[in-house]
Amino acid sequence: MNQTLSIATGPATLPAPAGRLVDRFGRVATDLRVSLTDRCNLRCTYCMPAEGLDWLPSEEVLTDDEVVRLVGVATGLLDVREVRFTGGEPLVRRGLVDIVRRVRRLDADVDLSITTNALGLARTAAALAEVGLDRVNVSLDTLRPETFAEITRRDRLPDVLAGIEAAAAAGLGPIKINAVLMRGVNDDQAPELLAWAVEHGYQLRIIEQMPLDAQHGWSRERMVTAEETLDRLGSRFALAPTAEPRGSAPAELFTVDGGPATVGIIASVTRPFCGDCDRVRLTADGQVRDCLFARRESDLRAAMRSGESDAELADRWVRAMAGKRAGHGIDDPAFLQPDRPMSAIGG
Ligand code: SAM
Ligand code: SF4
Repeated sequence: MNQTLSIATGPATLPAPAGRLVDRFGRVATDLRVSLTDRCNLRCTYCMPAEGLDWLPSEEVLTDDEVVRLVGVATGLLDVREVRFTGGEPLVRRGLVDIVRRVRRLDADVDLSITTNALGLARTAAALAEVGLDRVNVSLDTLRPETFAEITRRDRLPDVLAGIEAAAAAGLGPIKINAVLMRGVNDDQAPELLAWAVEHGYQLRIIEQMPLDAQHGWSRERMVTAEETLDRLGSRFALAPTAEPRGSAPAELFTVDGGPATVGIIASVTRPFCGDCDRVRLTADGQVRDCLFARRESDLRAAMRSGESDAELADRWVRAMAGKRAGHGIDDPAFLQPDRPMSAIGG
């Protein structure tokens, strides 16, 4: 792109070259995941330890103004078309509704969503819809209270279900339900989750567990593979691959019993989709990560706080993407799990 556009940078308005977040393999990142906090009110075993995880110091966490500014750089200067707020748990961020409102005012067309555990969503869904949130993805691994308490170490299933209902009532759909299956814990519950999702008009997506837990307890042998999941679901439902091309979407979609309901399988480990990746991540402390599994980050917070203009930040962001690796390399014997757990990267 050669055109230039102007963007306000405080007192002066500088012309800035419009750019795109292209890596050296030609992939273009247009989908930004923004972590609003590393904190959470659940403790899912595949994500966080029961206790003992240090939180980011508050002075390192981006302020609401800083989040809005960096999202504005991404959507205004870098051709980002989809913004998803995540965490940690985005609903525990006090300024969430205001951040969504301000990002929506900056860009009427950007696809704006959150990934949430839905605790407290019953209270905020209507407000989020009103200020311009488009959709929610909710993480829910089981419909059984005792399994929920085992996985999340909290007894909050009814709150989650109330949150999902409120989101549907507020029009924050299509609602996607993300589930991670764990062997011997909830892997036998995939069919009942799918039956429930189909009944309510939600799209279930089952995600292979990735080595991103703070305790480093992941093992390839124990992971429930996409193939096993499809076998289990196939014993109760007729599944057929949809005709739609997958594009950069991580989920392979299957129609359920002839459709129109579909189920998504996200085989991040056994069938990686890195070649089509269009994502970039911004952590709650303002670091750009070009991949969930990145070993390097680029510090936009320090650059912003040292007075860089929007155009300079955009340029820094473009440079940060250049080093994106071809794939996550989980199968490589030299694979190293990232230092930050999923809750601190932003899933
Ligand atoms: N707290 C919110 C939630 O749970 O939806 C947002 C953050 S959470 C880190 C985002 C997503 O990452 C959730 O769907 C969760 O299930 C998923 N996740 C966390 N740890 C994971 C892991 N080790 N492997 C695969 N998915 C994981
Ligand atoms: Fe919290 Fe989400 Fe991690 Fe569960 S997956 S501990 S809800 S951040």
